[in-house]
Amino acid sequence: MWLAEAGHDVTLLERRGHLGGRTHAMRAERVDDLPDNGQHVIASGYEHLFRYLTSIGTRQFVAFPATSTLRWPDGRKVVVRTTGFGAVRQLFGVHPDAGVHDRLRAARATVRLGWQALHPPADLGDLTTEQWFTRVGMPSPAREALWDWLALGIAAEPVSQGSAKVFAKVLATGFRMGVRHRRAITIGYPTVDLDTLLVSGALSFFAAHGVRVRYRAVARRIRIEGGAVTGVQLTDGTVVPADGVVCAVPNSNVGGLLDDLPEHAEIDSAADTLSYTPIVSTNLYLDRPLGTESAFEGLIGGTGVIDEVFDRQLMHGRSTERGWLYCLTTSGAYEQIHRTSDAIVAEQLALLRRYYPAARDAEVLEAQVVKMPRATFSQVVGMDSLRPPQRTSVPSLVLAGDWTATDWSATMESAAQSASAAVELLLARKYEA
Ligand SMILES: Cc1cc2nc3c(=O)[nH]c(=O)nc-3n(C[C@H](O)[C@H](O)[C@H](O)COP(=O)(O)OP(=O)(O)OC[C@H]3O[C@@H](n4cnc5c(N)ncnc54)[C@H](O)[C@@H]3O)c2cc1C
Repeated sequence: MWLAEAGHDVTLLERRGHLGGRTHAMRAERVDDLPDNGQHVIASGYEHLFRYLTSIGTRQFVAFPATSTLRWPDGRKVVVRTTGFGAVRQLFGVHPDAGVHDRLRAARATVRLGWQALHPPADLGDLTTEQWFTRVGMPSPAREALWDWLALGIAAEPVSQGSAKVFAKVLATGFRMGVRHRRAITIGYPTVDLDTLLVSGALSFFAAHGVRVRYRAVARRIRIEGGAVTGVQLTDGTVVPADGVVCAVPNSNVGGLLDDLPEHAEIDSAADTLSYTPIVSTNLYLDRPLGTESAFEGLIGGTGVIDEVFDRQLMHGRSTERGWLYCLTTSGAYEQIHRTSDAIVAEQLALLRRYYPAARDAEVLEAQVVKMPRATFSQVVGMDSLRPPQRTSVPSLVLAGDWTATDWSATMESAAQSASAAVELLLARKYEA
């Protein structure tokens, strides 16, 4: 889109029959609904993603709720503020069991965490997030009610494995943006399905700007001759001629594509090492409401990995004629990914029953389990420094995608920021020439 806006003639090659990549809607036939492949949240600091949404006219479909609810299995709950001064105060401890001493310790540890995020100690890259929390003295109630949850969400890895450096980088980005815009970064969500948010508007834009989209066009090798790109060879043997290429495939798909690039071995090796982490999403249609109070709620002490319940009725204003839809996403789902869909549905229902009295007699009308073994690249200790830059040694070939080097972890914003950087590089080349 941004290349077309700048006057370039653009062809988009997509190996699947639809656009959207890892963010797309799916049909649920039995209940005639359009849930997503996985619930996606959006931080208010996602400035490149917002630029994209503004370009396609869907910026208004992101909402930032003022509160969220944390629940414990024994029925206790805390409503936390997610915006304004209340959100900053929350950083110092929201756990109902936290005494004055814990809150003071949490405040001190939070200040240390912030300082070290902005001025990273030399060995931060060798630490897991858990080791970092221990080092700054973060008390366990504050970890349980906030920090572990936040770190899991950002790195999609359990804190015992997640890289402190990745978490620190995103915290630092958040602090800097908060200072720049004089507003704390907060978490929001789409109020429409992901196709409406990200794809439909793009298709209209493409039609209006003459961007060609070729579906089921699998790129095999980017052709380079005499230090310049000449085209993209597809798996069917044909070559799409081009004088500039943005290679925006995930790290798990890049093998072979860059073989003509002098530094391809280094990039391929980084892509392999970055590997992947699994996410399992479950869309549950129940015959009754759960009694949620916030659009998304955190379940503390659940299965030990992220447990969040997204209430699509509150988020999308969807009709409950065909049941109530609740979306659950498990990041770092190393064990769950090997279970059957039925077992996952049973496990998630049992989880809901521990937290919501209304779930005890609830029946599942329809369930979808989306297992994504390669959901994102792995953000465990030592990985961050491997992410390749967008610039390559061939000026007409640039890289993009969430796994390339950006200010963010594996997120939509990382994908959008890398795309922005890639486009700038190609446009600068044009002016240099
Ligand atoms: C379940 C789940 C939950 C998530 N939750 C969040 C969240 O809450 N917030 C957030 O910001 N991010 C979240 N993410 C991460 C986010 O979805 C990704 O980081 C982002 O979508 C990556 O975008 P991308 O463009 O880099 O890659 P992709 O979306 O994977 O796009 C790459 C495209 O390239 C195509 N392709 C691959 N190989 C070829 C080839 N050889 N030829 C042609 N086409 C090819 C693919 O088909 C795909 O369409 C989540 C991801 C998952 C899976």
